[in-house]
Amino acid sequence: MLKLVLASRNKGKITELRWYLANMCPHTIWELSPLSAYPEAPEVEEDGETFRDNAVKKATVVAKAVGEWALADDSGLEVDALGGAPGVYSARYAGLNHLGERDDQKNNEKLLTELVGVPLSRRTARFKSVIALASPEGKVWTAEGSCEGYISLEPRGERGFGYDPLFYLPEYGLTMAELTEEEKNRISHRARAMEQFLRILTEVEREINSKTNTG
Ligand code: IMP
Repeated sequence: MLKLVLASRNKGKITELRWYLANMCPHTIWELSPLSAYPEAPEVEEDGETFRDNAVKKATVVAKAVGEWALADDSGLEVDALGGAPGVYSARYAGLNHLGERDDQKNNEKLLTELVGVPLSRRTARFKSVIALASPEGKVWTAEGSCEGYISLEPRGERGFGYDPLFYLPEYGLTMAELTEEEKNRISHRARAMEQFLRILTEVEREINSKTNTG
């Protein structure tokens, strides 16, 4: 078995990534390992200009620091009426709390404040996710996905995390936080990135197996 470290401290995201790997990945060569198992892993500053920059940085820094394969997701929300904000600043849109942690509720409140007076028809938005896989030697693969919707006028629903209670999906008449775990994991930005990513993982496994068999 090869260790695959989930390079994230975001609990909602880790739960979803584990779900995909358990439910969509028929392969058994990977043993998932939480970042908390590696106290030596550094805090990675997400200072990239794109989700891709940040995902690649998180995966490569962790893979190198712990000497194992690492998987990272960088994701966020783009709102058209706000010129694409909060974008790469999604997690810390309303700043960090006194413990230096992100605050989902404050982020949602700020988003609603910024959009006061904007009608639902002009509240178009999308979630984006970039998943990066890095080998301990520094090789990187990426996959991307997005999900279109609207920012609702008020929060609804208890499931999911982050901006889910405000992300309205007209085709369901529900927010992302009102979907079941399975529904969200079928249609979300992360689901679409994961679908592409699992094809990459299959290729990587093939490469590893052929090296093991010939070496
Ligand atoms: P990251 O950990 O820097 O990638 O931050 C991602 C941030 O984007 C999260 O803290 C959320 O605010 C937001 N976000 C990303 N994915 C989702 C999602 O699936 N639902 C709701 N919010 C999300």
